Amino acid sequence: MRPKHRNGGLPPGAGLFRGRLLGWYGRHRRTLPWRGVRDPYAVLVSEVMLQQTQVARVLDYYPRFLRAYPTLEELASAAPDAVREAWRGLGYYARARNLHATAQLVVGSLDGRLPRRPEELRKLPGIGRYTAGAVASLAFGADVPAVDTNAARVLTRVFGWRRARRARQAHRLWAVAGALVPRGRSADWNQALMDLGATICTAHRPRCPACPVRTCCATGTRALRRRPS
Ligand code: SF4
Repeated sequence: MRPKHRNGGLPPGAGLFRGRLLGWYGRHRRTLPWRGVRDPYAVLVSEVMLQQTQVARVLDYYPRFLRAYPTLEELASAAPDAVREAWRGLGYYARARNLHATAQLVVGSLDGRLPRRPEELRKLPGIGRYTAGAVASLAFGADVPAVDTNAARVLTRVFGWRRARRARQAHRLWAVAGALVPRGRSADWNQALMDLGATICTAHRPRCPACPVRTCCATGTRALRRRPS
């Protein structure tokens, strides 16, 4: 089958988009307690908490949980009721159960070390494609994508993709996201996409005039052309 795009599988304008977004991220990245953290366990805790919970709520729970269970080993040896108690108020308790089960599995069978590769991380309880990519890139510096809802929205709008069947859309998103990851800067890149989606390219009111990638975004260019001068 012929490749859809030249330029290493990237759509036209991808290089410019990447440069602009990274430049913006360098100046405007959000300050969050889990940013810059490289301890794989702490990264996993933050990512599991963020799976179905707003950042504002996780800000309280993340340090509290890590104070109660500062290491994978301490979490692994905790009683289930105590873990549930530490998670109380965050909801979706299956996440706490899976995190606990992961800690026990890693301590019991993997020498206490979380795997570095997304394929291996995905074999652990409650770790899906996004969380595996996030842990691999943020904790281990692997050049892999991590596409959450925010990143997916940004990519879809920038490249002007029309709605496609779910499986096709997911395939396209992950393939292009993977090709876009700059070598050695996967953590910055994945977080830059998420930050843009969380602060400017929001679901309901994207702020295209203030967006750093507006001139290389298919959706933003159309929207700005329609604005009255
Ligand atoms: S220009 Fe608009 S649609 Fe495009 S990424 Fe920026 S905010 Fe989103």
